[in-house]
Amino acid sequence: MLNFELLGLSKPVMRAIAELGFETPTPIQEQAIPVMLGGNQDVVALAQTGTGKTAAFGLPLVDLLNFDERHTQALILAPTRELCMQITRDLQNFSKYMNGAQVTAIYGGASIEGQIRDVRKGPQIIAATPGRLVDMIERGVVDLSKIDFVVLDEADEMLTMGFKDDLDLILSQTPKEKNTWLFSATMPHEVQRIARNYMHEPHEVTIGQKNSGNENIEHQFYVVHAKDRYLALKRIADFNPDIFAIVFCRTKAETQTVADALIKDGYNADSLHGDLSQAQRDFVMKRYRSRSLQMLVATDVAARGIDVNDVTHVINYNLPDEIESYTHRSGRTARAGKTGVSIAIIHTKEMHKIREIEKLIKRKFTQAQIPSGFDVCESQLLSLVKKVHSVEVDEKSIERYLPAVFSELEELSREDIIKRFVSIEFNRFAEYYRNAPDLNLNAQGDERRKSAPGVVKMYINVGQMDGFDFNSLKDFIAENAEISNGDVTWTDVKNTFSLLEVRTEVMEKIIQSIHGAQYRGRTVRVESRGNRDAGIPRTRLRSDNRREGGGGYGGGGGRSYDKGSRYSDGGNRKSYGGRSGGGDRDRSSSKGKKKKSY
Ligand code: AMP
Repeated sequence: MLNFELLGLSKPVMRAIAELGFETPTPIQEQAIPVMLGGNQDVVALAQTGTGKTAAFGLPLVDLLNFDERHTQALILAPTRELCMQITRDLQNFSKYMNGAQVTAIYGGASIEGQIRDVRKGPQIIAATPGRLVDMIERGVVDLSKIDFVVLDEADEMLTMGFKDDLDLILSQTPKEKNTWLFSATMPHEVQRIARNYMHEPHEVTIGQKNSGNENIEHQFYVVHAKDRYLALKRIADFNPDIFAIVFCRTKAETQTVADALIKDGYNADSLHGDLSQAQRDFVMKRYRSRSLQMLVATDVAARGIDVNDVTHVINYNLPDEIESYTHRSGRTARAGKTGVSIAIIHTKEMHKIREIEKLIKRKFTQAQIPSGFDVCESQLLSLVKKVHSVEVDEKSIERYLPAVFSELEELSREDIIKRFVSIEFNRFAEYYRNAPDLNLNAQGDERRKSAPGVVKMYINVGQMDGFDFNSLKDFIAENAEISNGDVTWTDVKNTFSLLEVRTEVMEKIIQSIHGAQYRGRTVRVESRGNRDAGIPRTRLRSDNRREGGGGYGGGGGRSYDKGSRYSDGGNRKSYGGRSGGGDRDRSSSKGKKKKSY
């Protein structure tokens, strides 16, 4: 098998690589390193993030520079601060055993003074984001006149992010005689223009097909009603207990809403978007990298340059407006030779987008089925059992407690003990998914929402115009009827009204506590739409809180949720940064008392 030495790298670099644990070169390294080490060739490399591209240019670069001289010889441009910092860290590692090597990062969103001081020390390598570098050039701080190597990393991303003019300005400041190495996941016209204008007969290195996605990614789509997206997301997460995902949303507001809902439902999730301060973003990323978070909900822009390995799932909560962004999203998984799944949750009218993406990435999607309640419970149970198998028993520490434990469990059979131990974890899933409806639609969208047995459909005359979304409406009902969030199994919030499905046993409670109450000056009307399949009839209610045809309810009349209610802001609440405890999916509370959501 080919090793790094055969590629022609020097001893100090080999030592650094060994320390990093790299044993064999990745395909892009195998192809690019020998050409780049020649030191006299422009290179265009089509490679996704995660293919080992940083080492592909970083290793030959540190071998080609003269670290005895203290002037900038190599410039690496990258689209985001995160990527820029990552490249800097990698290159510092690669050049660890080379005397005098200095690598400096220049990026926006941080104090420029410190960076100016660093640049004045004459680092041989600068990794920069284009905007901040232009600022430095205009201040006369950076001298690019003696640059021998320019690396454009994620060139397509830099252009999509609007750095075209900055790139032109920067490249015009560099000497004509230099090597330019361009890395890009896709080859749109703009990137080809850069290659044409600034590079001389570049050597092309392609990993996989041009513009095609990473072979190790499996592309799947799920078809659901638009309003069921969130439920679908939760099912996918629950079906994959070890999920480590990035969930992409289209807007900052959607990102926040989805993250808030996940946090509230007890998932280890948080949001990453442009309305957060840099310090907040750093904090979220730190938690994600350290696996304190299982799900990072992000916008495209905020997630650029995220270089976390081992992401198991990329989830397109909504497909991107620009289908090209799909490649970048899905490229966040299946890094460094691993496999990963890229999921799109779509509604029927979006099938054409899937077909367009298929053409773009030259890969086929498979339609997957949203797991049923049974599937989720089974998967959770098996995961639990696997953990029992693999858990390490600390014999020494546990020894002294065991006699008491054994005596406590003495009268139980082996079978009973197993059942009870797994039930501790399992019950909340079983409870939550007991009556879970089928969320799947076929790609043509012909469906009829069949209510599961044990649930009943309800109508309520409040909706989006009252400031509710699926999440806040659930809260509103759960809190005021003093039931669990999980008792409301489905919501469809329309503009002026909403439909719900709730467990049959809480229907009366909801009617009693909410029907006839005042909300923002309106009398709330809530009624049962029944469940034809389960033989439960519809119940029409008059707004004076009595059943049509007599038989009034005493409970709800005269209540007002206008003032002092946590919903008086109409559900537009924002809570940022909540940390959910591992496995504790019960975050809602009512009157200081914790309620179980599952
Ligand atoms: P990149 O595409 O540069 O973001 O690299 C993706 C990940 O692969 C990084 O965590 C690298 O440390 C790792 N990596 C790069 N090259 C190798 C290699 N030859 N063997 C093992 N891991 C590697």
